[in-house]
Amino acid sequence: MISLKFWYLLYRIAPYLKLDRQKIADRIISINNKLLKGSKHGFEYDEILVLLPHCIQDKDCKFRITHHQDNCIMCGKCHFGEILKYCKEKGINLRIATGGTLARKIIKELRPKGIVAVACHRDLIEGISDVKKIPVLALTNIIGKCGPCISTGVDTKKLFDLIEKLHKKHI
Ligand code: SF4
Repeated sequence: MISLKFWYLLYRIAPYLKLDRQKIADRIISINNKLLKGSKHGFEYDEILVLLPHCIQDKDCKFRITHHQDNCIMCGKCHFGEILKYCKEKGINLRIATGGTLARKIIKELRPKGIVAVACHRDLIEGISDVKKIPVLALTNIIGKCGPCISTGVDTKKLFDLIEKLHKKHI
């Protein structure tokens, strides 16, 4: 398998070569997740951090959830409620990161043993390469009819599967 370093390099120079950056990012995320899924983790739920982008909240939602997740009434208009419920039941740390700086701060504070990050391609690629000592499984968010960065979605089945991959004793 071609190393991740090669794909990162290709991702950086893709605009000059007129290559599709998104496809390369997909490849990086897929390789990253495969490599990590092949490792043994077995973290407790409370050692796992789930990072979500703020744009998964429905654009018309009137509740402020970035710092007060319990404001969410789980109305089902966006995926946040479902993810919040799952994480609460399991005791998983769930945070919304409005950018890379806040994500780094959260990681520094919580010191998780494993991370599942949901974001757009660009933020995920930056995040995966940024966090060196902690396994980061990545999942791209779903761009809906509002376009990128507004009312995006999450494949919650895939998200919960990635969380379980970090949690199970043998992957
Ligand atoms: S589930 Fe409903 S209440 Fe919760 S953040 Fe989404 S839109 Fe707002």
